[in-house]
Amino acid sequence: MDNNAIHSLLLQHYNISNVRLEQLDGYESLNYKITTEAGKKFVLKVHRHDYEQEDILDAENKVMLLLGNKMPGYFARPIPNLDEKFISKDENTGYLVRLLSFVEGTLLYQTKINKQILSDIGHCLAKMDKILSHYYHPSIAARVLIWDLQHCMSRKECAAAMSDKKNKTRVEYFFHQYQEQVLPHFHKLRKSTIHGDANNSNTLEKNGRICGFIDFGDMAYTPLINELAIAIPYAVLDEEQPIESAAIIIQAYHKEYPLEELELELLYYLIGARMAVSLSHAAFFNKEGEDYAINTNPIWTLLNKWISINPIYAADTFKKACGFATHSEVNIKKELQRRQNYFNKSLSVSYKKPIKMSGAAFQYMYAADGTTFLDAYNNIPLVGHCHPKVVEAGQRQMAQLNTNTRYIYDALHEYSEKLLSKFPKALNKVFFVNSGSAASDLAIRMARTYHHHSDIAVLEHGYHGNTQTAISISSYKFDRKGGKGANHNIITLPMPDEYRGPYRSGKKDIGSLYAKDAIEIIQKNSEGIAAFIAEPIMGCGGQIPLPQGYLKDMFTFTRNQGGLCIVDEVQIGFGRVGTHFWGFEQHGVVPDIVILGKPIGNGHPMGAVVCTEEVADRFANGMEFFSSFGGNPVSCAIGHAVLDVIEEERLQQHSLEVGSYIIKELKGFQKNFDTIGDVRGSGLFWGMELIYPENMAHHTELAGQLKNRLRERNILISTDGPFDNVLKSKPPLCFDKKNADQLLEEIFNGMRELSPS
Ligand code: PMP
Repeated sequence: MDNNAIHSLLLQHYNISNVRLEQLDGYESLNYKITTEAGKKFVLKVHRHDYEQEDILDAENKVMLLLGNKMPGYFARPIPNLDEKFISKDENTGYLVRLLSFVEGTLLYQTKINKQILSDIGHCLAKMDKILSHYYHPSIAARVLIWDLQHCMSRKECAAAMSDKKNKTRVEYFFHQYQEQVLPHFHKLRKSTIHGDANNSNTLEKNGRICGFIDFGDMAYTPLINELAIAIPYAVLDEEQPIESAAIIIQAYHKEYPLEELELELLYYLIGARMAVSLSHAAFFNKEGEDYAINTNPIWTLLNKWISINPIYAADTFKKACGFATHSEVNIKKELQRRQNYFNKSLSVSYKKPIKMSGAAFQYMYAADGTTFLDAYNNIPLVGHCHPKVVEAGQRQMAQLNTNTRYIYDALHEYSEKLLSKFPKALNKVFFVNSGSAASDLAIRMARTYHHHSDIAVLEHGYHGNTQTAISISSYKFDRKGGKGANHNIITLPMPDEYRGPYRSGKKDIGSLYAKDAIEIIQKNSEGIAAFIAEPIMGCGGQIPLPQGYLKDMFTFTRNQGGLCIVDEVQIGFGRVGTHFWGFEQHGVVPDIVILGKPIGNGHPMGAVVCTEEVADRFANGMEFFSSFGGNPVSCAIGHAVLDVIEEERLQQHSLEVGSYIIKELKGFQKNFDTIGDVRGSGLFWGMELIYPENMAHHTELAGQLKNRLRERNILISTDGPFDNVLKSKPPLCFDKKNADQLLEEIFNGMRELSPS
């Protein structure tokens, strides 16, 4: 519509002429600021008829009049036309036209927000909502608005327009949380007519106080709490402590118009959902080439911050602000006593001050007392705790079909094909089980079937699982407390440790030197081994990368005397080492059997044995192989989703970047602390060995203190190695650079406190 048409509309319907026109932002209507010669200001809103139905506009007008009577000055007032009507029709276009009074003020996004403003937002919204609680308009209640938070799940598919898959996942996480946390309680939420769009472009400030709200175009009859869920994220966008700032709004609201406990409990998720809607929308419209003039960067920042906030902490803070009791105090002593009723001491619990967990998201874990822990520890949730793609894959399949491999189903074939595509061609057969231990067990059985040899060569301090067979090949168990030593058919080889062993870094051909010693031991103790098994980076051994050349020589020897080469990728596989998808690839070797577990299902209990066709054929000796749960459709769907996410979010590359950064920085710390003997690893699988510098003795105490200090600073990390003196990290691969900086800073501060040089 050109300006001439606007001028003639004003003259025709309102008898107003000689005005200055200024186009304002508008989403679903054309909006103009009108200034008359006498300096009077109005807003003219032109609505395309098909877009806005007349009775909706009528409802908006009625609401503005109602609110204007009770809260004078806060809202635009509809101005009647020459026929005393609040809605005019443009005869040329059929458009509906309204003239409103102009509310003076600065839009909230252009102002600096302080506590007074936050409190005002709560107070004014509450006053408004209290008035609106007596207003009901069937057309408002009947319409389905995309911005109405109760319909947010319909927006989920818009997230598909996001090209950054990692971002997309974060948004999907909040849609999924809405489904899981809010929807089951939805029917209990009281509904009311609300403004529904009190964002920072629709809220006005003057002289440091909130002075009005504009744009009733998204009015909805929806859960009352949605008013705050929509207003809050925009009000706290730039706040250092968004939860505390949100609590100021909530407290002021509650004082005027009391909130219910359930509303406060769900608010964290509703705010997350609102941000998800906003970001999905922006992505969708931008992709469609539509002009969508919202700066999404601050919303992304808040969304990511939101994930690092424990929902229990949020709910407690909100509830406290309104005088409700909180229930998150945890009596760890009692919890431990309860645990002792059912378990004995062989089931250990981490940290001097154990943690009761209640939830997790990506690289964060939420304790039951409201604390958020940064997870630098857990390698099982490889692509992130509760990753929505993985969770949804499992949920969907569980609701459709879960059976066993004696039937034919697509999920098994599709997943097997995808998994095997990650291996060198020679490794083309797979057996599914339910744990790394079961995979180790099966791998050893296969090796012993292959040539009818029974001896197995293992590495000192290696760990491969908890079954009878897996324990028998795990020096980490049989050689330590409670262990019975090696069985007669187990040959333990020294750890090829470049830091402590006889051949140290800097020396040439270290791998071959260690291999030569190992081969001598095997030759002395065995007529022929069935298998040699190793992890390319020894996890329980203390994050020891095998030296280059070692596996090559050991594989050649093992094969020459008829044995099989087994690689255990349970801890390090699936892109964690960064340079490659599998640890063995760093050594230029191809094993005969690979054992998979832990991260394969992101926490869903899965394991697999991948092997060559020849090994698989020899194993098929007439005895059926069957695992009740191995390869079931749910596991396959989950495993498949994990592989997809690794690719989509480029997690291998990410692991290399963040891991290399951490390792480099930690090596730099060695200049400051001579107790850091060694820093080693690959990607997000690294270890920092702590020593007494005088004699390189294992500084177990310092490692334990550092680990527990990090726990006090809300970072989860472990210690490992035969003497527990290696600080060990293997976080979810979404652990990012910011997380790395936080971890590094805390390690540095911890070392300065615990080990001043
Ligand atoms: N191999 C390695 C290298 C492991 O670290 C583990 C578990 N810590 C296993 C095998 C056994 O896996 P699970 O606990 O799933 O049986």
